Amino acid sequence: MGLIVAKFGGSSVADATSILRVAKRVVDAKKAGNEVVVVVSAMGDTTDELLDLAQQVSPNPPGRELDMLLTAGERISMAVLAMAISDLGVEARSYTGSQAGLITDSTHGKARIIDVSPSRIQEALDQGAIPIVAGFQGVSLDTKDITTLGRGGSDTTAVALAAALNADVCEIYTDVDGIFSADPRIAPKARQVPRITYDEMMELAAAGAKVLHLRCVEYAKRFNVPLHVRSSFSDKEGTFVIADLDDQSKIENLSTLGVVMEQPIIAGVAHDLSDAKVTVIAVPDKPGTAAAIFQAVADAGINMDMIVQNVSSHGTAKTDVTFTVPRADVGKAESSLRAVQNEIGFEDIEADENIAKISLVGAGMRSHPGVSATFFKAIADAGVNVEMISTSEIRISVVTRADDAQTTVQAVHTAFGLDADGEAVVYAGTGR
Ligand code: ADP
Ligand code: ASP
Ligand code: MG
Repeated sequence: MGLIVAKFGGSSVADATSILRVAKRVVDAKKAGNEVVVVVSAMGDTTDELLDLAQQVSPNPPGRELDMLLTAGERISMAVLAMAISDLGVEARSYTGSQAGLITDSTHGKARIIDVSPSRIQEALDQGAIPIVAGFQGVSLDTKDITTLGRGGSDTTAVALAAALNADVCEIYTDVDGIFSADPRIAPKARQVPRITYDEMMELAAAGAKVLHLRCVEYAKRFNVPLHVRSSFSDKEGTFVIADLDDQSKIENLSTLGVVMEQPIIAGVAHDLSDAKVTVIAVPDKPGTAAAIFQAVADAGINMDMIVQNVSSHGTAKTDVTFTVPRADVGKAESSLRAVQNEIGFEDIEADENIAKISLVGAGMRSHPGVSATFFKAIADAGVNVEMISTSEIRISVVTRADDAQTTVQAVHTAFGLDADGEAVVYAGTGR
């Protein structure tokens, strides 16, 4: 028995029936002798709908107002869930991020948590009540304005509270049975993994596996908070994200499976359809030009991912530089480069939004030869063309046409022997 922070994602609180199911689950956990803090996301696709609404009234809304609008989604869920729990005879109190003590910097739309002072949450717990906290939001001390943590940020709210309250576990309830070897929505043969390390999960999340927010996993690693990803629609054990498979002591009392020792070479395959490719054409091949290009993009506050510079063609001393950026930032990247076009002396810029990034992740890659060979053969046999390549110690990523994403994920998944016998269950959600 201990302190549990339980986060319920949008599909787990999508309608009244789901909210009643969650309320029962929370009350059962409390009745079993645990202290429970709940974090909720907005109901169903509410956040996307609010974004659509904003677009209809303003193509480029002020960040402050957009954050104010979006945080309303989580407020609805927290109040409704508190009502449902109260109806089951247990006191529940809802809190906005600001009331729960989630202090952030003032960057609207992707604020970072800088402090968590959950005194009101602790007080509610001490009084035997169940605190329900609105995920994905905080308040900036500088500006006193409401901020959001970026899409999927409720996971990070949950782990930040778990760390501050010294919880035994942070449970992330979602619409699939845990973490799989690929997104079960596009790879039905994906296999659920019982355990995964923070490092592997960080690579998967960074590569587009949105089952956990990247910063949630980083935060959990830093404070060594065990993450437990599971479905709110089933009683399956789910997946534990922990530091090291050789030391499962932190989850000893939480798992019915006992110690799981197999350390697979490959943790999984991730895909990401949210990037675009920008090519700067005919860049003078001389020292300083790459720095100038990347400085211009950095000054616009844009994160780049993969970078390729082609060899300069004979005689011209010019080369093309290609990189990927979030699709939403393509316009900004183009205009920041146009501003320095004369200075750098390149000929043109081309943007391509029809790309997918497919990544293979596994800690075993470090010590097993042949992983790249199998990966590229699988992609070639599937008839898919590779446009860019990048690697880290435990990841290989390629860029393909967006239409090839599913074929590529499935081909690589099969080639590494990851296919399960049955089909993975997706309980709810639209995948939006
Ligand atoms: P929530 O609303 O509960 O936060 P999300 O939609 O953010 O849910 O995340 C859950 C979804 O993540 C799943 O429905 C699944 O489609 C997707 N997903 C992507 N990669 C994986 C993976 N490796 N394992 C499990 N789910 C994954
Ligand atoms: N509601 C927010 C989103 O859709 C935050 C979250 O669900 O984690 O991105
Ligand atoms: Mg999510």
